[in-house]
Amino acid sequence: MSTAHALEREPDERVNWPASIPMFMIHGLCLLAIVTGVTWKALALCAVLYFGRMWFITAGYHRYFSHRSYKTSRAFQFILAFGGGTAAQKGALWWASHHRDHHRFSDTERDVHSPLKGFWWSHMGWILCDKHKGWDPDSIKDFNKYPELRFLTKHDWIPPWTLGVASYFIAGWPGVVVGFFWSTVLLWHGTFTVNSLAHVMGRRRYATTDTSRNSALIAAWTGGEGWHNNHHYYQASARNGFFWWEYDPTYYLLKFLSWFRIVRDLKVPPARVLDQARVREGTFDVGMFKAHWGKATAALSSHTRSAVGAERADGDADSDGDELEAATRREAIAEQMHASREALEESVRTAMRSAEELAQLSRRQRSLTRAE
Ligand SMILES: [Zn+2]
Ligand SMILES: [Zn+2]
Repeated sequence: MSTAHALEREPDERVNWPASIPMFMIHGLCLLAIVTGVTWKALALCAVLYFGRMWFITAGYHRYFSHRSYKTSRAFQFILAFGGGTAAQKGALWWASHHRDHHRFSDTERDVHSPLKGFWWSHMGWILCDKHKGWDPDSIKDFNKYPELRFLTKHDWIPPWTLGVASYFIAGWPGVVVGFFWSTVLLWHGTFTVNSLAHVMGRRRYATTDTSRNSALIAAWTGGEGWHNNHHYYQASARNGFFWWEYDPTYYLLKFLSWFRIVRDLKVPPARVLDQARVREGTFDVGMFKAHWGKATAALSSHTRSAVGAERADGDADSDGDELEAATRREAIAEQMHASREALEESVRTAMRSAEELAQLSRRQRSLTRAE
């Protein structure tokens, strides 16, 4: 029997292995370094392409296209979309529309990559199934109106191929294998850890309705995206490190660009918001409660299922009438347990719903008093 996850995967959420071959092949191509050799120039290119493209993903795909946390010109918007495109993580519109869904439905049935459906699922399984191949233009209407962005999303192979060929001219075949392929694979997994690890590793500062966490380690290799709990708490912010000690180079470079008016209107959280909803100060952590509850019921239900199954098998093996009767009785008890668990689950769901409504109301109240 498979391990029970708090959220079950739908039948259409299965990895499509044949369609996933290219992605695995690119992992394999990294081994060609044995043939091409590893040069210092190629290693330097690998580092530049890793951190450079990470910036385009975090500042462009994430903080601009997904969250509109700052403004820029149409020309620089195109540069952001093209730069992010070189990371081979599909087009800006695809990326941002799925990411907006992640925030809208964090850690629920409709979250595209919740670790509550399993760690590997959240890391890369969700990309390798057919369900999320497309994207919803309605969830990204604000950028879908630009034909150049639609073009880049439709022909998402153009930016990575351009960069791959350029890598050859910069550093030869080692440049392609070490410079381009190594950094592309590292960049994939670096980015994916924000979806997988950043929801299981680290600390929670703010009570949010999801399982997001803050991790300095993840921030180190993702250009500051490791402050993921901060981010879920205040997603409109152009900076994810809320305090000076929270390393956020994505924001530092954005700030630098704003001095030259290349980007403008960088949104940051108001000081008073930073002090609210602290878990440490006793705010009820709805997100973690929901996650633990989901795990507990999933474990209980798979346990009950297997217990009933085992007893059924016992009953079949023994033809003795008394034994059969006892088995039937046990089964009845198990069904009863199942029913009461369902009822309990339903009442907790209702309670959670009202808790969320209450939280929403008090948030609205707070913003009203702030406006006055
Ligand atoms: Zn986000
Ligand atoms: Zn998240």
